[in-house]
Amino acid sequence: MTTPERFRLGKYGVTREQWLDALSRGERWCSGCKKFESSDNFRGGQTRCRVSQNSYLNARYKKDVEREESRKKYWANPQKARDYQKKLRSSWTPEQRKLKHRINKLSWKYRITLEQYDAMVAEQGNLCAICGRPQRRANRPLCIDHDHKTGKVRGLLCDFCNQLLGFLENHRDRIPAFEAYLKKF
Ligand SMILES: [Zn+2]
Ligand SMILES: [Zn+2]
Repeated sequence: MTTPERFRLGKYGVTREQWLDALSRGERWCSGCKKFESSDNFRGGQTRCRVSQNSYLNARYKKDVEREESRKKYWANPQKARDYQKKLRSSWTPEQRKLKHRINKLSWKYRITLEQYDAMVAEQGNLCAICGRPQRRANRPLCIDHDHKTGKVRGLLCDFCNQLLGFLENHRDRIPAFEAYLKKF
C-alpha cells in the first residue's frame, strides 16, 4: 500500500528526505517564504527569516495602527457613525430589510448562509425531512432544525414536525409509553 500524499509530504509539502537533506546543508525552513533557507538568514530561534520576519512585524504594526485610528475616529463622534448606519438602513426597501434580517438571523442563530439554506431547500425538494410534506402555510419557509446541544443544523422541517420533534426530543423516555398506550385501543 502506498502512503497517502499528505503523509508522504508532511504538512509543509516536503518529504522527510528533502527535510533531512536541507538540515545537513545547514538550512532551515522559513515559515514566511515557505522554503528552505541558509540558517544565516535567521535571527535566533525565529521561524521566519529576517526579511520575512521584518515584513511580518511591519504588517502587524500597520494593522494595529489602522485599527487604533478607526477606533479614535469612531469615538471622536460616535453619533456620526450611528446616523450613517441609520441613514443607510432607511434607504432600504421593505423587501431588502426583510432579506437582510433573514440573512442575519441565519448567520447568528444557525451559522449558515442564505446560499447554504437555499441549497438545503433544493436538496430536500422544499419538503419536510420527516413527513415529506410541504409547509402547510403558503410562502412560509421550512423551519431549520438544529441540535440544541451542538448547534449543528440537521435538516429542514415543516412547522408541525418541528414542534412535535421539539416535544419528543425533550421527553424521549415517554415515547414507548405513548406507543403502549395507543396500542391498548
Ligand atoms: Zn524567508
Ligand atoms: Zn413534516
